[in-house]
Amino acid sequence: MSSEVEVIRKPSEMEERCEQARRSGRKVVLVPTMGYLHEGHLSLCRIGRKLGDVLVMSIFVNPTQFGVNEDLDRYPRDLTGDLEKASSCGVDCAFVPGVRDMYPPRYQTFVEVEELARPLCGAKRPTHFRGVATVVTKLFNIIRPHAAVFGEKDYQQLQVIRRLTEDMNLGVEIVAGPTVREPDGVAMSSRNAYLTEVQRGQATCLNRGLRRAAELFGQGERAADALLSAVRQIVEAESEARVDYIELRHPETLEELTEAGDQALLALAVFFGDTRLIDNTVLGR
Ligand code: AMP
Repeated sequence: MSSEVEVIRKPSEMEERCEQARRSGRKVVLVPTMGYLHEGHLSLCRIGRKLGDVLVMSIFVNPTQFGVNEDLDRYPRDLTGDLEKASSCGVDCAFVPGVRDMYPPRYQTFVEVEELARPLCGAKRPTHFRGVATVVTKLFNIIRPHAAVFGEKDYQQLQVIRRLTEDMNLGVEIVAGPTVREPDGVAMSSRNAYLTEVQRGQATCLNRGLRRAAELFGQGERAADALLSAVRQIVEAESEARVDYIELRHPETLEELTEAGDQALLALAVFFGDTRLIDNTVLGR
């Protein structure tokens, strides 16, 4: 299929394109991504398509959200494939800036969300959410979308962005899309491409752990210890899995819970070799 997606690389051009759309009364919707698209990203596009008139996808592997020893250099990329997939789910325009376009020489301004960015992935990746909040602020300022769609797969990121948008009066409606999974339950992720066949088989332990916790919760278990140790047991049974964190948190404040309330976020991160996978579920939802 030939791509009909308009590709824009310069922030100034993107600003102009969106300004024109808004002036003619059209609603602009943004789906931010780092590319190497899969069904999870495309599901957000389908949600976005219904929310407005001009659907913009950004494809930018944002260096400021990677730590020094992380996978920035090997992060998978496939722009040609991405544009075909984007076209097939109604994306009108792809914003694909270069690193220098977003962070020119002498760049020195960053946005930080405090409490929400500290636990979970923030504790393990201390500069990650600062990079995310900064790039999302820049994308919102360039594109000025009416709405933007983010995945619940990155649950903490979604909460950080909701807070950022409200605190900074960015005036963008934040819409969440549910986690899309492979048939065996593994959450889709561009990083799944790094896994060996054995690791990919074992990666089902994240979702199996979450499902077991949901089952216990359904039977009335509320103690964090019991819920978390059940998940840990399932993950640690896999020879290549190394737990980074498994935690029970308040779904909105992300404060640690010793007892689940009516709802509780169970989030985990697990390494397979150098590859770090995350997943989560909101118990009681
Ligand atoms: P990324 O390209 O990994 O930065 O992800 C871009 C957007 O897609 C983020 O809002 C993610 O939360 C979302 N996303 C990634 N994986 C999934 C998935 N499996 N299901 C739903 N959304 C996802």
